[in-house]
Amino acid sequence: RRELLSPEKLEQELCQAEDVDAQMRRLVQLFEFSEDERRLRHLLVTLFQEVFQEFLPGCSVLPFGSSINGFDVHGCDLDLFLDLEKTKTFQASAKGVPEAQCCEGAEPAAEDSILSDIDLGVAPEVLEVVRTVLQSCVPGVHRVQAVPSARRPVVKFSHKDSGLCGDISLNNRLGLCNTQFLQLCTEADERVRPLVYVLRYWAKQQGLAGNPHGGGPLFTNYALTLLVIFFLQTRSPPILPTVARLQQLAGDEERMVVDGWDCSFPRDAARLEPNTNTESLCVLLADFFREFGEQELSGHVISLCEGRVLPLEAVAGAGLRLGPVTLQDPFERSHNVAANVTERMAQRLRVCCTRAAKYCRSLQYQRKSAKGRPWGLVRLFQPEAGELDSDGLLLALPLAPAARRRELGLDPSSRQSWFGHVCAGVAFVLRDVLKCSCTELQRQPLGHAEQLLEPPGASLQQGETGEPPTSPAQQPAAPREPVDAPRELVDAPSAPGTPPAAGLKRPLSEEEGIPSPVSVSPARKRPRAEALEEAGAVSWSCALWHRVWVGRRRVRRQLRPQHSSPLAEAGTEQEAARSLELEEKVSAAIARQEASGEPLLQFTACARLDAQASLRFTPAPQHATLFQDFYHFLHSFLPTMLQRYLSRVGEASP
Ligand code: ATP
Ligand code: MG
Repeated sequence: RRELLSPEKLEQELCQAEDVDAQMRRLVQLFEFSEDERRLRHLLVTLFQEVFQEFLPGCSVLPFGSSINGFDVHGCDLDLFLDLEKTKTFQASAKGVPEAQCCEGAEPAAEDSILSDIDLGVAPEVLEVVRTVLQSCVPGVHRVQAVPSARRPVVKFSHKDSGLCGDISLNNRLGLCNTQFLQLCTEADERVRPLVYVLRYWAKQQGLAGNPHGGGPLFTNYALTLLVIFFLQTRSPPILPTVARLQQLAGDEERMVVDGWDCSFPRDAARLEPNTNTESLCVLLADFFREFGEQELSGHVISLCEGRVLPLEAVAGAGLRLGPVTLQDPFERSHNVAANVTERMAQRLRVCCTRAAKYCRSLQYQRKSAKGRPWGLVRLFQPEAGELDSDGLLLALPLAPAARRRELGLDPSSRQSWFGHVCAGVAFVLRDVLKCSCTELQRQPLGHAEQLLEPPGASLQQGETGEPPTSPAQQPAAPREPVDAPRELVDAPSAPGTPPAAGLKRPLSEEEGIPSPVSVSPARKRPRAEALEEAGAVSWSCALWHRVWVGRRRVRRQLRPQHSSPLAEAGTEQEAARSLELEEKVSAAIARQEASGEPLLQFTACARLDAQASLRFTPAPQHATLFQDFYHFLHSFLPTMLQRYLSRVGEASP
């Protein structure tokens, strides 16, 4: 499994390049697949193909999207299309048509063949077969989930050993065509790849693009790539031909209509007309930002077919869903590729482009720094100062009841124990209640007398798990025992009549793949007074895959109709336990609605106890915008749930 490049390493590499053009080309080299990765994907596709052929004779498993479109990035998802055309012919022949018409290479169907039971024309039935085969018959595949409601129904999966995520779609021949079109564009001009790679990365950092599974407001990478291609069609002289011109250039064997749409274009870039544009990458990037910063996108249609923006009237009757950005698919002309993009996101694109265009006019963009300072792309990728407080977002944690506070103030070991409960509670709410993955990074204990007797060592150690969980293999919510939480926390008895609190004792299976947490690091030997003043701190690296803060009320009502607000009083310990349990179920139900490959949010959380107890969140820069929404939800939710947790372990009255 290949590690993703850290932002620091990327910065280092880019700073060494000679100019912006070289930086852009270097970025491609750093992100693109190695030969091994390409081979691995090929092997996986072959494996899928062999297994599926057993059940669906004559079928083909065909990769599309970033695995083959020329914009591959380490670990990107594996988009697959299951082509059942030949299987349909085979099914028809098995039902009575003479054997001679059976498709080539397909074994005759046994009487109990799956084919005799399903109707290949009914998508939900086929999707269920694909889900079952993936789940039960493809070695190493797990986390399989059908998403029948997607615009193009898919079955999502992960592959354990490679850490890859992917999906299999049906009826997606258009996906293959647009992939070939992108491939052609990359072959037509060598500037296409560096520009697209840089803009994809920049847009991700700015919170503009990503993989909005189930239709978030971000630009998909496909949409962003089409914007770049459109931009290159509009240069003078053009760098890429319009799709209408490509249709004229297509040879007879390349003429094809898919789902009623003309998908004719040359499959070989050698057949394109030479272009005479000699602009540098550095200039093109700056101009992309300038144009999309200035251009009012609403009120027009971006047409790659014609290589210009069209008035809305020009597409009246095409069935195109108009939006703040209307980007017409080059082949499926009734589809707006940016239909999911909200007004706010469109506005954000303009603001970010304007800001980037301004930076591109500075010398820091255009010239390598002689003093070793960040320059060129490096500063472009840095998040704008002031968008997020550099210290992250702070949340006050509930204080212990007054009587307990007096005791805590007097007795350091009580403070230690209480803080242990608070930290275990925070981890419990994030992991179990909200289904985040949550890996402890550091633990700085409160200094107290017992620890002064421990052998000397660093008081703050980096854990074995210091990397944020970047791969889906480290996915969700494996609840673990808190590191130095007192035993009774882990063994906390459930309130009578309630099931044991989910996850408190469940051991972590190997499959769940999260390495064991760091052990408590011993405090350094130091004078007692200094040790007493030392603040306790625990930090976690977290990732969240689902919008668990959206639609909770509806799910809660479905699960327990008589239940009012999660923040309503929970008078007894039993009520507190029931409330926690319900909130766990609500998150699990939301998580079940959609499985996603990449984490939606990655952030660190750091609990501290000094004068007050606080929790500080620092989101990954590319998740800063979305994190604000999660944070607003946490603001009231987390302290309430934490109170309930503490009440359940007998540390506070709810
Ligand atoms: P990555 O997987 O790294 O995000 P990618 O190049 O695979 O990048 P995706 O956005 O995943 O890009 O698109 C893969 C394929 O999915 C496209 O070739 C296209 O067929 C389809 N697709 C993606 N987004 C859209 C969209 N908004 N409208 C229509 N089809 C889309
Ligand atoms: Mg993809």
